[in-house]
Amino acid sequence: MIYADYNATAPLRPEARAAMLAALDLGPTNPSSVHKAGRAARAVVEKARAEVGAAIGSRAEDIVFTSGGTESLALAIQGAVAALDGAATLIVSAIEHDAATKAAAHAGVPVETAYVLPSGQVDLDDLKARLTAWDRSLKGTPIIVLMLANNETGILQPVQEAAALMREAGGLTVCDAVQGLGKVPVNAALLGVDYIALSAHKIGGPQGVGALWHRAGAPLKAVQYGGGQERGLRSGTENVAGIAGFGMAVSKSVQDLPRYAALGAHRDAMEARLKSEGGVTVIGEGSPRLAGVSCFARAGFRAETQVMALDLAGVCVSAGSACSSGKVKRSLVLMAMGADDALAESAIRTSFGWNSQPEDFRNVADAWLQVNQRASSKLGA
Ligand code: PLP
Repeated sequence: MIYADYNATAPLRPEARAAMLAALDLGPTNPSSVHKAGRAARAVVEKARAEVGAAIGSRAEDIVFTSGGTESLALAIQGAVAALDGAATLIVSAIEHDAATKAAAHAGVPVETAYVLPSGQVDLDDLKARLTAWDRSLKGTPIIVLMLANNETGILQPVQEAAALMREAGGLTVCDAVQGLGKVPVNAALLGVDYIALSAHKIGGPQGVGALWHRAGAPLKAVQYGGGQERGLRSGTENVAGIAGFGMAVSKSVQDLPRYAALGAHRDAMEARLKSEGGVTVIGEGSPRLAGVSCFARAGFRAETQVMALDLAGVCVSAGSACSSGKVKRSLVLMAMGADDALAESAIRTSFGWNSQPEDFRNVADAWLQVNQRASSKLGA
């Protein structure tokens, strides 16, 4: 099997697995317990907090462990709105993940869309104009929700620039760095944002654990209540083994950043072949992108069909669009970039990562070209 779906979830790194097993082997461990076993668990959690903090250049105490990217986004978006007593308007980019879009839709305040350009990057001129005309007495504090890297296309967003505009306007920035972490350098202070959502399983950590970084002093209120863990911001007994695995995975992925960047040459070679031999359109080719991601489309060759045919050939990839109740759902990300229906229905995403080998790229290209040839000859028949 060739696994080319790292943006869906990455294989567990052996070091993360070992850290998790060591944490599990501590025995019954609740980090809130004051006895020796509890203190051992607390030490594991705090070590991982320091590791996650170090990975994004932040203090450990500004990291809140959660159950993953989805919960981190909900806490940032809904927790910021709650802390502002609802005197806020959310500006959500048109290409955000459902985890952000839906958390915003349920935040109880108006939501506006930040449009993206055909390049796949958010339109900063539009954002600037919008903020210049902002009537704070009517709309409250503007809060933008903007991802660092898009999960479908890998296109990087100008988060630093957008955050600077937001600061100038007295607004806040929530950055979804779930797909950026461990693939491009992430530095909280350099980005200039107020909240950063992170997830372990996209970088070789376990599923079901993530973190929210928040700037010291940024408005944030808990959205779930209970035992008051994580300084009252995220009640619930910590997932000690998962957190240990996250800490290890994030440290390793930051060490591995040059290796991830080097995937770009193999990705480019794969795309060059797919374009010349298969006539594909590469999405976001001219935009800054994650090195391990290639989203491409061949108009008329439906994404679902490609994904299924590749699966039969032993290659795991994702569709940019999804099929619901027999109808083709077009990729909203591609639609937001102005792609036509034919392209938006036929985009697939290949994504590689920490354990990908050069031959994986060649094998994916070989498999896709074969699948494409078979589909083309059937169409011709
Ligand atoms: N944000 C982005 C950009 C993602 O790709 C994902 C996962 O697919 C999430 C958020 C949600 O993260 P999690 O699966 O950890 O809840």
